[in-house]
Amino acid sequence: MATINEKISEEIRAQARKLLEAKEVEAFLGYCQGSLPMTARPFVARTPEDTDKLVWNSFCVLNLANYLPALLKSLEPPRGPRDPAPEGPLPRAAILATGCWSRNIVIQIQENQVDRDRVVICGIASRGMVAQAKVKELFAGREILKVVEEDHKLLVSGKGFSEEINRWSVIRNNCLTCIHPDPVMFDVRIGEEGGQRKSDNRFADVEEIENKSAAQRRQWFEEEFASCIRCYACRNACPLCYCPTCFVDDAKPQWVGKSVDQVDTSIFHILRAYHCAGRCTDCGSCESVCPMGINMRILTKKLTSDVLNLYGSEAGLALDSPLPLTTFKQEDPQDFIITEQPADKGGE
Ligand code: SF4
Ligand code: SF4
Ligand code: SF4
Repeated sequence: MATINEKISEEIRAQARKLLEAKEVEAFLGYCQGSLPMTARPFVARTPEDTDKLVWNSFCVLNLANYLPALLKSLEPPRGPRDPAPEGPLPRAAILATGCWSRNIVIQIQENQVDRDRVVICGIASRGMVAQAKVKELFAGREILKVVEEDHKLLVSGKGFSEEINRWSVIRNNCLTCIHPDPVMFDVRIGEEGGQRKSDNRFADVEEIENKSAAQRRQWFEEEFASCIRCYACRNACPLCYCPTCFVDDAKPQWVGKSVDQVDTSIFHILRAYHCAGRCTDCGSCESVCPMGINMRILTKKLTSDVLNLYGSEAGLALDSPLPLTTFKQEDPQDFIITEQPADKGGE
């Protein structure tokens, strides 16, 4: 009998073929099988025949919204900077979207990175994605050669071993506390409705760090980020980071040093987190791609918690919800903007 994900994969292929054959879209952004165990790769199907390669499984961990603006741009007819804008509607693309990815698409539309009329959103209720790192940790010292996914378990095998593990026991941390697994906006639904999920306290990990003393928090931060190699995979995997030149790549002025010196690394992470404030959907893409296993996502999660507490707003839940950091209301709390300086430290 076909598994849940096999049925969803079949639906995706049928939907993609239908859209491409009808020429409703020029491209379908989904996933194909990766070449290593526990991997799936973002994939653009451009012909009905390409759609045979599309798959859906628990290793589709990269947020596809990250590729959407560039894909739409690539579909436009080439033109020079002084050429007039092309007449008539521009080619469209379809994209798969889980709860968090759909929220990132909402943000891209709100921030004028994506034209809603050019996108067909194929929504899938997420069952949570598997953390490759958690599976590897369980099988530390043994090479995993094959992982077969069933509805609620993974069959992991390698040289001389074959074991079954519970799928939910290796789900990514962000998926464990996700309360919006269902797409918030879609044109076509794939699979069944997911509904809302409950979490007793989805910010428990943030609170654990908040409850530490300042010295302990500093120590936690230094230890967590000590192994960062500044590869920028976390930034590159994030759909919020679309700046043509990131502040870390600027040479004139050079806002931050390029080394793995602790101060440079700290500035990179703190500034990037602030750039994502009120925009992060906790999709986990950044954390999933980090080769050093760093939990940088907790910084954006702390800011998500702050924005929720201060403004009652959560990123990307609706197209008409205001962007919290670019919207001003008279009654907004302002005590964090103006603070009194102690008399003996005035001006410091
Ligand atoms: S870290 Fe900031 S400057 Fe760099 S790409 Fe992301 S949002 Fe842009
Ligand atoms: S910062 Fe990380 S969790 Fe937040 S939207 Fe970007 S990739 Fe996703
Ligand atoms: S992906 Fe990991 S190692 Fe690379 S810059 Fe981000 S935190 Fe550092």
